[in-house]
Amino acid sequence: MEKCFEQFKASLLYCNTCKQAMPVDERLLLVLSHGEIYEYLCQGCGCSLGSKRERRLGKSGSDPASIKK
Ligand SMILES: [Zn+2]
Repeated sequence: MEKCFEQFKASLLYCNTCKQAMPVDERLLLVLSHGEIYEYLCQGCGCSLGSKRERRLGKSGSDPASIKK
Protein backbone atom coordinates (compact mmCIF):
# COMPACT_ATOMS: atom_id res chain seq x y z
CA MET A 1 0.00 0.00 0.00
CA GLU A 2 2.78 2.43 0.85
CA LYS A 3 4.52 1.59 -2.39
CA CYS A 4 1.36 2.39 -4.30
CA PHE A 5 1.18 5.76 -2.61
CA GLU A 6 4.73 6.59 -3.64
CA GLN A 7 4.00 5.63 -7.20
CA PHE A 8 0.96 7.82 -7.21
CA LYS A 9 2.91 10.80 -5.98
CA ALA A 10 5.46 10.35 -8.75
CA SER A 11 2.86 9.92 -11.45
CA LEU A 12 2.44 12.18 -14.44
CA LEU A 13 -0.60 14.19 -15.32
CA TYR A 14 -1.47 15.46 -18.74
CA CYS A 15 -0.99 19.20 -19.05
CA ASN A 16 -3.00 21.06 -21.66
CA THR A 17 -0.48 23.87 -21.71
CA CYS A 18 2.59 21.69 -22.16
CA LYS A 19 0.70 19.29 -24.45
CA GLN A 20 2.16 16.29 -22.72
CA ALA A 21 2.15 14.34 -19.51
CA MET A 22 4.17 16.24 -16.96
CA PRO A 23 5.51 15.53 -13.48
CA VAL A 24 3.53 17.37 -10.88
CA ASP A 25 4.14 18.98 -7.55
CA GLU A 26 1.67 18.15 -4.85
CA ARG A 27 0.66 21.13 -2.79
CA LEU A 28 -1.55 21.19 0.25
CA LEU A 29 -4.38 23.48 -0.69
CA LEU A 30 -6.88 23.30 2.09
CA VAL A 31 -7.22 21.57 5.41
CA LEU A 32 -10.67 20.47 6.38
CA SER A 33 -11.94 18.92 9.55
CA HIS A 34 -12.33 15.55 7.86
CA GLY A 35 -9.50 15.63 5.38
CA GLU A 36 -7.20 17.66 3.21
CA ILE A 37 -7.35 18.95 -0.34
CA TYR A 38 -4.23 18.72 -2.44
CA GLU A 39 -3.57 20.53 -5.66
CA TYR A 40 -1.34 19.24 -8.43
CA LEU A 41 0.82 21.78 -10.16
CA CYS A 42 2.62 21.12 -13.42
CA GLN A 43 6.37 21.30 -12.91
CA GLY A 44 6.76 22.70 -16.40
CA CYS A 45 4.41 25.67 -16.39
CA GLY A 46 3.01 25.76 -12.88
CA CYS A 47 -0.59 25.34 -13.97
CA SER A 48 -2.97 23.49 -11.74
CA LEU A 49 -3.68 20.10 -13.27
CA GLY A 50 -6.20 18.96 -10.75
CA SER A 51 -6.82 18.35 -7.12
CA LYS A 52 -7.72 15.55 -4.85
CA ARG A 53 -9.35 15.27 -1.50
CA GLU A 54 -7.59 13.04 0.94
CA ARG A 55 -9.51 11.80 3.87
CA ARG A 56 -7.81 11.36 7.15
CA LEU A 57 -7.25 7.71 7.80
CA GLY A 58 -8.81 6.04 10.76
CA LYS A 59 -12.37 7.24 11.06
CA SER A 60 -14.22 6.38 7.90
CA GLY A 61 -13.46 3.43 5.69
CA SER A 62 -13.13 3.40 1.95
CA ASP A 63 -15.21 5.83 -0.02
CA PRO A 64 -15.69 4.94 -3.70
CA ALA A 65 -16.62 8.52 -4.54
CA SER A 66 -13.15 9.75 -3.61
CA ILE A 67 -11.35 7.49 -6.07
CA LYS A 68 -12.57 9.04 -9.27
CA LYS A 69 -10.06 10.55 -11.63
ZN1 LIG B 1 2.40 22.40 -17.98
